[in-house]
Amino acid sequence: MQFRNLAKQYNKYRSEIDEAVGKVMEKAAFIMGENVSELEGSLSKYVGVKYCDTCANGTDALQLALMAWGVGPNDVVFVPDFTFFSSGEVVSAVGAIPVFVDIEKDTFNISPESLENAIELVLNKTEYIPKVIVTVDLFGLPADYKEVRAIANKYGLYILEDSAQGFGGTLNSKKACSFGDIATTSFFPAKPLGCYGDGGAIFTDNEEWHNAIKSLRIHGKGQDKYDNVRIGMNSRLDTIQAAILDVKLKHFDDELMACNANAAIYDALIKNPHVTIPTIPEGYISSWAQYTVLFDENERREEAMQLLKNEGIPSMIYYKKPMHLQKAFSPLRVNTECPVTEYVSQRCLSLPMGPFITEEDIESVCRVLNSID
Ligand SMILES: *Cc1c(COP(=O)(O)O)cnc(C)c1O
Repeated sequence: MQFRNLAKQYNKYRSEIDEAVGKVMEKAAFIMGENVSELEGSLSKYVGVKYCDTCANGTDALQLALMAWGVGPNDVVFVPDFTFFSSGEVVSAVGAIPVFVDIEKDTFNISPESLENAIELVLNKTEYIPKVIVTVDLFGLPADYKEVRAIANKYGLYILEDSAQGFGGTLNSKKACSFGDIATTSFFPAKPLGCYGDGGAIFTDNEEWHNAIKSLRIHGKGQDKYDNVRIGMNSRLDTIQAAILDVKLKHFDDELMACNANAAIYDALIKNPHVTIPTIPEGYISSWAQYTVLFDENERREEAMQLLKNEGIPSMIYYKKPMHLQKAFSPLRVNTECPVTEYVSQRCLSLPMGPFITEEDIESVCRVLNSID
């Protein structure tokens, strides 16, 4: 069994994708070809924001956003403790200070209470300046934007929505990538909307930031690539990847529906009092980047992984190590407590998922899970 069956996906769209890639090869416009701006138009329309700028990957997308805001030394960026490394890496990369914030036990997303405590701590106990809240739409579920936006307004902070896993999710019918002042996503192959290599995108309604990002992604260009008005990056989406994404975006809503149907099958078949299925609060739809369950004890998770492995079923621990324990961030300049992240990272397990997993496969996974006592 595959953790996410990308080969099956390619087989289904093969003729369309091969044709789209073939056209790029014939035109030989490999860098910033027509497909790139076409895709940016389709993506901004899909999400419902004014501007979309693609770039080389989801990590650069986050960094470009921070650069467009001029975030740097002495600025604090609040980041969930339970996320992929990039969400905090980019903060240190621009010289700013990541402060890690605990999560909610049911949604795995940033805890508004822990966030406000961390902001107060920085304001009262340090000389640093709070600037940005990174919200991560973890495993496909948008964060609690009602609460987080109220906190952002109260303290005058920007929200940077890291929706690398969230693209396609919704909250009250509003799409992920439309909640942040700037939002980003990743087209890494295994993400909800993946290409066949690396890729990323940045979304905003703000024209000034959009213009800054367009410049920053091409060496801080002014009039053209050889007129450089700021220090930027080389971070563009390949035309070939844009052509592939053009095709995949057309099928994306069908894939989302299939993922939600598959999640419902998991929900119905998991019947083990030691295993908690994912919580999707009222008004939310997940894009199901991951289907992640929570065991009541670490030992049961270890047993489950071993039994699954014996059956040839892959499973993954996202994420084993809380951000505040990553060596790369030590010594931390601001220490916070993140007990929920520590609890969850010991007990979470992500199961095979995606639009192309079969009902039989889900049944096999659940049979193993239900056998653990
Ligand atoms: C994958 C991911 C990223 C980084 O995306 P890349 O395209 O791999 O650089 C950032 N944040 C989160 C939460 C992710 O899952």
